[in-house]
Amino acid sequence: MVSFIGAGPGDPELLTIKGKKIIDSADVIIYAGSLVNPQVLADAKKEAVIYNSATMNLEEVIQVIKEAEDKGKKVARVHTGDPAIYGAHREQMDRLDELGIEYEVIPGVSSFLATAAVLKKEYTLPGVSQTVILTRMEGRTPMPQREKLLDLAQHNATMIIFLSVGMLEEMCRILRQAYRPGTPVAVVYKATWEDQKIVYGDLTSIAERVKEAGIRKTALTVVGDFLGDEYELSKLYDRTFTTEFRKGVTE
Ligand code: SAH
Repeated sequence: MVSFIGAGPGDPELLTIKGKKIIDSADVIIYAGSLVNPQVLADAKKEAVIYNSATMNLEEVIQVIKEAEDKGKKVARVHTGDPAIYGAHREQMDRLDELGIEYEVIPGVSSFLATAAVLKKEYTLPGVSQTVILTRMEGRTPMPQREKLLDLAQHNATMIIFLSVGMLEEMCRILRQAYRPGTPVAVVYKATWEDQKIVYGDLTSIAERVKEAGIRKTALTVVGDFLGDEYELSKLYDRTFTTEFRKGVTE
């Protein structure tokens, strides 16, 4: 059996109990060494064989899984955050389907959720934004025609940009064409790791501040007025609003 596991954003205590149990009992572990905190593997079996997928291509990863599977070994394929977000996960599952190898997926805490937690913010503020866009800038991997950053930015929704902090200046230049230039922005480097850094600014100031902080990778850029302090109170906890579980009072 192969288990794809979301290792969480960094802090090893943010691994799910289910994911940890599988890692701790696996015979073969393949982990994304560029981003997964090695401490997530701290309680792996002494005899477990551990591979770092940062230096492997898809064929090599599949080969390791197949050989282990042929010997009846238990494989943990450990991805950073949640594998469903920029995990290059689907192509592995499809190969396993072709080979008739069974697998399961254990979700993890994605870095975008850890980022909201360390910022102590909510992405979906009533009257501000009720939509969250997860995206990336076009780099060596092109963006589909209808998902250019400027098109997505037209909504002024809460936007979370992965994999792109190295292009922050260009990113802000594009976003300023759709959001107010004063729209707040935060860049979170290595959310929940010991060397986490948070830089605040707006669409005109953030690029310079992030450069000063020396952040070039492993960071998320979050944009939107959810970072501000103006919003409406929720209906969910409004004393005059009736919900399935609670009758509202009439004033
Ligand atoms: N599957 C992962 C994302 C992998 S893509 C997830 O769910 O989080 C890698 C990108 O994710 C990085 O370039 C960075 O933009 C972001 N990232 C991953 N871990 C992060 C962390 N702890 N803090 C901030 N950004 C992180």
